[in-house]
This record gives sequence, C-alpha cells and structure tokens, in this order.
Amino acid sequence: MTTIAFIGLGNMGGGMAANLAAKGYDVRAFDLSAEALEKAKAAGCTAAASAADALAGADAVVTMLPAGQHVAGVYRDEVFGKAAAGTLLIDCSTIDVATAKALGAEAAAKGYVAVDAPVSGGIAAANAGTLTFMVGGPDDGFARAQPILQAMGKAVIHAGGSGAGQTAKICNNMLLGASMVATAEAFVLADKLGLDPQRFYDIASVSSGQCWSMTSYCPVPGVGPETPADRGYQGGFAVALMLKDLRLAAEAAGSASASTPMGARALELYEAFAAEGQGGLDFSAIIKSLR
Ligand code: NAD
Repeated sequence: MTTIAFIGLGNMGGGMAANLAAKGYDVRAFDLSAEALEKAKAAGCTAAASAADALAGADAVVTMLPAGQHVAGVYRDEVFGKAAAGTLLIDCSTIDVATAKALGAEAAAKGYVAVDAPVSGGIAAANAGTLTFMVGGPDDGFARAQPILQAMGKAVIHAGGSGAGQTAKICNNMLLGASMVATAEAFVLADKLGLDPQRFYDIASVSSGQCWSMTSYCPVPGVGPETPADRGYQGGFAVALMLKDLRLAAEAAGSASASTPMGARALELYEAFAAEGQGGLDFSAIIKSLR
C-alpha cells in the first residue's frame, strides 16, 4: 500500500486527503490546526503528531499550504534531510513560480523527486475529487505523481519542467481575472444602453465575445447557468484568492519582463474592491464595483 504524508488539511487539503484515504491510500495527515486534524481522522486518515511523524515511512509527501513561505518552511525545516531519499514530493499549493523552481532544484539536489502540482477547481471540486492538476517537474516525478493526483481529480496534465505547473496556474487565473472584468463591464455597458441582459447573453454567448466567464460563470444573476451571482455572490472563488493569484502573476511578469497590462488592470480593480471590504465575495461580484 502506498503511504502518503499529507500536510495542510484546510479548506482544500481536507477534502483531498479524505479522497486519497477513500481510494485506499494509507494517509498520514498533519496540520497545525487540531480541528483540521480531527476532521481528517474522521475521514479515514491517520492523524500524525508532527510533520516528521507523518513523513516516517512515507512514499510521497503532499502539501496543500497557503503560500510559498509555508511550503519553503515545511520543505526546508521538516522534509529535506528527514524524508527518505527518493521520496516523491508533490506540492499542490498555489505559490510563486520562483519559490517553486528553487524548491524543485533543492529537492533534486538532495535526492528527492519533486513536482509542483497546483489545482484548478475550488473547495467543492476538492471534496468531490474533481480537481484539475497542472504539473511541473521531471518525467519520472510526473509518472509517479499521476495515480496519486488522479485519485483526487478529473484531469492531470504535465505542463513541463519544475515551476511549469505554477506558471500554467497563474497565467490561467490572470486570464480568468481579466476576462471576468471584461465580461462584467460589457454587461454593465449593455444595461446602461438599455439592452436586456438576457438578450445580450443570448447574442454574445454565440458570438465572438463568448468566454467561460460569460457562459459558465455569468456575473449577472438570473442569466445563464446557476452561478454564485444567483446566490448573492456567496461561495465560489473568493475575491481574496483571485487577488492572490493576480499578485503572483504580476510578480512573475515583473521577473520575466513580460508586458501584462490587462492582468495589471484586473489586479488594480480587484485590489480596490477588496479594500471596500468585499474580499469574501465570489470574484464575479466585481460587477458591483462597475455598476
Ligand atoms: P486554508 O488556509 O484553508 O488551509 C491551509 C492549511 O495549512 C491550514 O489548515 C493551516 O493550518 C495549514 N498550515 C499552515 N502552515 C502549516 C504548517 N507549517 N504545517 C502544517 N499545516 C500548516 O487554505 P486552502 O483554501 O485550503 O488553500 C490551500 C492552497 O490551495 C492555497 O495555496 C490556495 O491558494 C490554493 N487554492 C485554493 C482554492 C480555494 O478555493 N480555496 C482553489 C485553488 C487553489
């Protein structure tokens, strides 16, 4: 039986660890929060007393932590030099590309096989085991990670070398942030010019303005399939998380000297919206700031 040390059992990691346990993996779970640990135990994982305790005898380590500094801290303080040589390290957190690449290189130098494997899909997809994983790292790491990730998701795609998973994630979410703002402002303009939102949807969704933000995640209530807009913008993907990803994209664009004016503008608009105390709403609520 494959033994997995799972570190970080929050909103996302809790459901992911439970899915691994349900698929027959021996999951040794650890989180700083006793409550998260209790939930993992109830879901069939073995609660570990520390990261070191979770690592003992593990074939693979999966991390699902808030940001780059948490992953770097856990890798450098708890994993490197303590996990057995050859252990597979899978980081599913969304972190900055530079840290992902640095940790990938350090892990390889210390005899580990590491991949960055951030996810698309929120808490519901983590619970349902329908996440999409975009994986950066060497071919042997991808091959070993694939069945483990498949147990938690619906799609597992090898993006390229170390850091390529994080690159794919932030480029995708920068596009999503900008396309949501553009979709929202088109609805606002149509409305102010007297065009019925449903009529605009019917036309644009089969015309060249069609995009996922419109046809799968429409920011206008009562138009298109059911979305967070129909629930007062509750649930879904929070403005604060979109902001995190737009900041990571801006940081990466700066270090690569890439011009990303639409991503930069989306970042400004989401920053202003969050500063108004709206960071907990779904990101499609940005339409409220444009009205
Ligand atoms: P979360 O804050 O709910 O969970 C993080 C967990 O990590 C917490 O339970 C915390 O106690 C634990 N933790 C922090 N430092 C630790 C340490 N040193 N050792 C052990 N445990 C530690 O966050 P989340 O919503 O589960 O998100 C996790 C990652 O997934 C983030 O990088 C986020 O950007 C990404 N993500 C989240 C969503 C979403 O919808 N929530 C969607 C896609 C990607």
